Amino acid sequence: MDTFLNYIDGQWVPSVTGERFESRNPAHPSQVLGEFQSSDARDIDAAVQTARRAQKAWRRTPAPKRAEIVERAVRILEDRKDELARLVTQEMGKTLVDSSYDVGGAITSGKYMAGEGLRMFGDTVPSGLPNRMAMTRREPVGVVGIITPWNLPMLMPAWKLFPAIVCGNTVVVKPAEDTPLCAVRLFEILEEAGVPPGVVNLVTGYGHTAGQALVEHPDVDMISFTGSQEVGRRIAATAGADLKHVSLEMGGKNAIVVFDDADVDAAVDGVLWGGFSTAGQRCTASSRLVVDEKIADDFVDRLAKRMGELVVGDGLDEATNVGPIINPKQLDRVHSYTRIGIDEGAELVLGGKKLDDADLDGGYYYAPTLFDHVTPDMRIAQEEIFGPTVAVLRVSGDEEAIEVANGTDYGLSASVYTTNVARAMNAVAEFESGIAYVNAPTIGSEIHLPFGGVKSTGNGHRESGKSAIEQFTEIKTVFIDYSGGLQRAGID
Ligand code: NAP
Ligand code: MG
Repeated sequence: MDTFLNYIDGQWVPSVTGERFESRNPAHPSQVLGEFQSSDARDIDAAVQTARRAQKAWRRTPAPKRAEIVERAVRILEDRKDELARLVTQEMGKTLVDSSYDVGGAITSGKYMAGEGLRMFGDTVPSGLPNRMAMTRREPVGVVGIITPWNLPMLMPAWKLFPAIVCGNTVVVKPAEDTPLCAVRLFEILEEAGVPPGVVNLVTGYGHTAGQALVEHPDVDMISFTGSQEVGRRIAATAGADLKHVSLEMGGKNAIVVFDDADVDAAVDGVLWGGFSTAGQRCTASSRLVVDEKIADDFVDRLAKRMGELVVGDGLDEATNVGPIINPKQLDRVHSYTRIGIDEGAELVLGGKKLDDADLDGGYYYAPTLFDHVTPDMRIAQEEIFGPTVAVLRVSGDEEAIEVANGTDYGLSASVYTTNVARAMNAVAEFESGIAYVNAPTIGSEIHLPFGGVKSTGNGHRESGKSAIEQFTEIKTVFIDYSGGLQRAGID
């Protein structure tokens, strides 16, 4: 079996612990993709120290030069796109269509951020004094710790790392324990692209050891985290006490709202894609369907029929619509919510079981699941399930629909289906979410636009697009006085 190493100071090195963990294919659990370093605080410390040492030269490297290296990485990613998409499917389980979005997103992110290296705009602003110039310049934050989830195993590390390094930061990445091979491949590409030693470092391992050590390390200036709310809250508390910058992107309980004038077939298509692609393991998954009672019977009938046609299986098989769940623990968790929904009095329309047919080879599959007559107070309407389970909440009129859609702690993505532009724009304005869609499901964000959520989904940051530059830079305000004497701002 292949053993993969950490990448620290431009070298592939084993962990000081001497311990390893495996990555397995969730569609074929007997298939091991490799063994990875189970790192601890000592490996993190070595990586942070090297990132700190590399900081000085890297921040002095002109941003356009930093961007050229990212551009080279993009070219390699493009050449290897198909092979990498297959790897994403094998390690994470989602279909090849989903995986090509994952790798394609990493490529787009790299292209966009390489362009930002040629801009990196500051402002020039008129001073209130004569013969004085006022301007801002962007500088790196310093050493950035990046902690990523498993559901977008190429895209997530890439969309944090590319802007971070273009902005002149050096980074230490702790990828999800379920998808370390995707991260290793990305780092091999960065190495091949010529990123100088120490600028990017990879330390694999568990969240509670390697991840936590990164968050607690005193010489880390910023943590960029995407994952669950529970872990995000702990990171915010720890890093906040240390006055680190913290950017958190956490879960969602995203609603598709279907008004009574909607094109029901289009809405059903939206649910099939938004609720069940990546087996519902998307932070933006359409897990709640808030449907006007006037059309709800028709909507549920049509949805159930189409859900029955979804093919569950290995994501490498082109016929597959819904791949496996990432691991047995998550599979149990998804299944536990079916019990919870039934006990709460919701009506199970379809699915609600693990799939273990012989031809599924022991993969961690869950049947696409539909609950109807769900009420807003139920746990299945409030908690992120992160699986192929959707809940229909029946409402009366637009106002109640929007109120129910907004009635969770989360605020990532929301969508409305309607044929009336005024009703659509009202919903867009009223949604408590970072992302809103009209006549499209809650997934489908584009890499060159800001991404993130309000309420308990985030802490006020947006990643991706030009917002990422705000996130990964500090602003220095500069005054240049050429009057030859003393001028007192705000007085003279
Ligand atoms: P998770 O358990 O929170 O893990 C995310 C990352 O944090 C993993 O690398 C994990 O390591 C690490 N981690 C765990 N405990 C830690 C600790 N105490 N200190 C530091 N790091 C720690 O989430 P997940 O199960 O991988 O991913 C699913 C979640 O991510 C969902 O809630 C989903 O909504 C969210 N998500 C959000 C977005 C978004 O942009 N809003 C995008 C994708 C996913 P291990 O792998 O070892 O656990
Ligand atoms: Mg986890």
